[in-house]
Amino acid sequence: MNIRTRLAVQFLVLASCILGLAFIIVYLRAADFRKDEFNSRLHDRGENAANLLIQVEEVDDHLFRKMELKNPIRLIEESISIYDADDSLLFHMGIDDPMEPKYLLDRIKENRTLTTSYNDRESFGSVFRNDDEHYVVVTSGIDRFGRRKLADLAKVMLVTFLIGIALIFLVGRVFARRALSPVTRLVHDIQEISATDLSKPINIGNGTDELAQLAISFNAMLARLRSAFLSQKNFIANASHEMRTPLTAISGQIDVLLLKPRTEEAYLTALRSMQEDVRTVNRSSDRLLLLAQAETEVTAISFSPVRLDEVIWAARENLINANAQNTIDVIMSEVEDDADVTLPGNESLLHSMIANLLENACKYSPDHHAIISLKRVGSAIELTVEDNGPGIAVQDQERIFEHFYRAQNTSETRGHGIGLALVKRVVELHKGSIAVFSEIGHGARFVVRFHCGK
Ligand code: ADP
Repeated sequence: MNIRTRLAVQFLVLASCILGLAFIIVYLRAADFRKDEFNSRLHDRGENAANLLIQVEEVDDHLFRKMELKNPIRLIEESISIYDADDSLLFHMGIDDPMEPKYLLDRIKENRTLTTSYNDRESFGSVFRNDDEHYVVVTSGIDRFGRRKLADLAKVMLVTFLIGIALIFLVGRVFARRALSPVTRLVHDIQEISATDLSKPINIGNGTDELAQLAISFNAMLARLRSAFLSQKNFIANASHEMRTPLTAISGQIDVLLLKPRTEEAYLTALRSMQEDVRTVNRSSDRLLLLAQAETEVTAISFSPVRLDEVIWAARENLINANAQNTIDVIMSEVEDDADVTLPGNESLLHSMIANLLENACKYSPDHHAIISLKRVGSAIELTVEDNGPGIAVQDQERIFEHFYRAQNTSETRGHGIGLALVKRVVELHKGSIAVFSEIGHGARFVVRFHCGK
């Protein structure tokens, strides 16, 4: 069942309950009213008979019956019985046998009045006083007219009820359709969006109601998806370009070498150059792989306590071994014990983060010198990497963490623009923060903070 029909049905159930309840109350009130009215007529008829028969000496049994024969206000199948204080029947007119057993007469005397009914016949008994004498007057009859009116009322109400709920259902469906039309439009707009074209935002309607909020959130999600798709596309294009450049260089060198026989010296020079290109491809592919893992296989990354000071020393050693020109100073301050520099993390990712920051610092500084410091700041561990290199322009500072972005003033130095993207991702995975402080010509300082409450 769709929401429109469900809403219409719920509306229908609610309205029928209210309408049905109202009709039942009206019917019960009408039934009470008929009963009261008929009882009052029975009472009047009994009182009138007792008055005439007991109080008016001139009216005897015979005269009374004669008068009643022509009386227009006689009830249908009317019966009147008058009993004295000893329950002896003084007068009876109407159906053949007076129907009142002794216990009924006793109850009338006890309660002053009593109403009973049997099938359609209704009776009213009351005590009639004349001087010190007590009499019991019982009048009964059939209220055919009143009952017929009540039955008609019930029929009218039933038909009205049925027509009413049919109308309510139809009106409910129209209202539900109107209320849900923005949702239908939303569904239609969303269906128009294809996986390849995420550029068309959906209509946000009046811009204020809940559905507009939903459309606005949906458009925001669409924009995020679009930029994710774009960066994925760029990432693949850039990655293949990064791999292809050194591979093309190697292939070109081989082609040139094969043109004619060369001296041993020429072969050695070519091989060294190719070795450097192969190393570049290797480094790029390692970083790309690490970046892809850090970005997509988050659940597969295991965390355990890592001592950052040890990671720093290991990264420093690797870099100095790779290039003897590199010099790296390590400064530890406010570090009292191992726990001060230990954080839950992934050792190999943290190693590559520190290695990338140090490598950049050495690579871009003419003196190949970097200073790395580690300190405890309250509940955080702060790691700073500084250099005396060319610095980074303000407009580049925000972008250097993007995949494959390389700033202009360092384009002379070889690089692939993957290192800092990986650094940022590793920092994010460890719920840390990274900031860069730099001025052109005055070096660069990268500050990483990990919050690890001790
Ligand atoms: P790569 O160094 O391979 O080009 P990175 O992602 O590590 O890639 O760095 C991105 C860019 O940020 C670099 O191309 C460079 O322009 C700039 N950069 C990074 N570190 C430094 C630094 N210490 N000094 C100056 N520029 C830097």
